[in-house]
Amino acid sequence: MTAATHALHAADALLPSGWARDVLLEWNAQGRLTGVTPDTACPSGTPRAHGPLLPGLPNLHSHAFQRAFAGLTEYRGAAQDSFWSWRTLMYRFAGAITPQQLESVATGLYVEMLEAGYTSVCEFHYIHHDLGGAPYADDATLSQALLRAAARAGIGLTLLPVLYQAAGFGGLPPGDGQRRFIRSTGDMLRLLERLAPVCEAQGARLGLAPHSLRAVPPDSLREAVAGLHALDADAPVHIHIAEQTGEVEACLAWSGQRPVQWLLDHAPVDARWCLVHATHMTPDEYQRAARSGAVAGLCPTTEANLGDGLFDMQAWRAAGGRWGVGSDSHATVNAAEELLMLEYGQRLSTRQRNLIARADHPSVATAMTLEAVAGGAQASARAIAGLAPGQQADWVVLDAGDPLLQGLPTAEAMLSAHVFASHRRSAIAEVWVAGRPRVQAGRHALHAEALSGLATARRQLLSDTP
Ligand SMILES: [Zn+2]
Repeated sequence: MTAATHALHAADALLPSGWARDVLLEWNAQGRLTGVTPDTACPSGTPRAHGPLLPGLPNLHSHAFQRAFAGLTEYRGAAQDSFWSWRTLMYRFAGAITPQQLESVATGLYVEMLEAGYTSVCEFHYIHHDLGGAPYADDATLSQALLRAAARAGIGLTLLPVLYQAAGFGGLPPGDGQRRFIRSTGDMLRLLERLAPVCEAQGARLGLAPHSLRAVPPDSLREAVAGLHALDADAPVHIHIAEQTGEVEACLAWSGQRPVQWLLDHAPVDARWCLVHATHMTPDEYQRAARSGAVAGLCPTTEANLGDGLFDMQAWRAAGGRWGVGSDSHATVNAAEELLMLEYGQRLSTRQRNLIARADHPSVATAMTLEAVAGGAQASARAIAGLAPGQQADWVVLDAGDPLLQGLPTAEAMLSAHVFASHRRSAIAEVWVAGRPRVQAGRHALHAEALSGLATARRQLLSDTP
């Protein structure tokens, strides 16, 4: 281990406890931090970061293929448009995408994510079968396309194969648009066994995503989660829950209970779980869900794009709830913008300002970054919980020379400007994953190639789908 390749000195770095000065970061050949030491002079020969260092943000919810139609559903089709009309186009693309196209779209997307400040992603992956709905000769074909895309881009991955069995509550038979998603619980457990060594070889984490209560009947939910935890006791479980009011009403009609209420009463929800969206909860559900230790997987730009509604951060945080952010449908791919949208939603609904702050971190951007990293790491079930020994060497270097950041008095002010003043104009200089620089001078080495691959796949999909 030499200082030149395994150490970096930062004048300012955001550690789990808050901002620190003169921080020496050291890491090993496996890309794990071995030392994070504040108030240390830069040893001679050690490179210096060119701006404040932030922990890399985990993106805790992604459906990679949906990046291919971002921007294509922004017109009014019916008199009153909603989530369900967006889903029609989603099914068209899901029905047509090939393994090669999925790999191209995901590679482009993961490059975009890295450039936007995400250092890892939880992929909620539900297209499993061929175009006709039959399993591929290798059942893991599409999962492997995602694993290759993540490896090529250099982003950390938590792969969550999705269990999807029904079109609605009460085991409604799946429709033709869902033919590529459907699999039995036994087939899912075999897929997990097949993927476990492949994920381990790549340093990726494997979990399971029961799609939603409407898509997974109670017996299947119980058997699949038990099967996953027999394979790996700490593996993460992610589920879409209470995203739309229509779903809440259908769940009430089916069971007499609201989705989150039903889940907490019938599933072993704990810190291994991520409740994706959880937009529509009662005060009692906020309390109980927060107490379970589960992470709320918030996707502010997608929830805004789809007109889902607003999560109540004050109720959640007052109950001690943990949370992280995801870019979900990838209507936008920008870590800072998710934080901005989350805080702004709360401001608009409460007519107050600076809501997601804390007594020890009054700066909203600082408090949000620390909480989203901690919650995102928990949901990812990977050692990516920020700049601390034992965690992966993942970070973002802000560009102190960016016109919006230049001359600001503190690193904390620069982070605030990055989140609240410079969105859509990246103030990110570098992004490192596992101790390796993946983005330098704001660009990923594969930027041109990966983004043109994404555009080509999208062109093919648009000409293939009527
Ligand atoms: Zn989703």
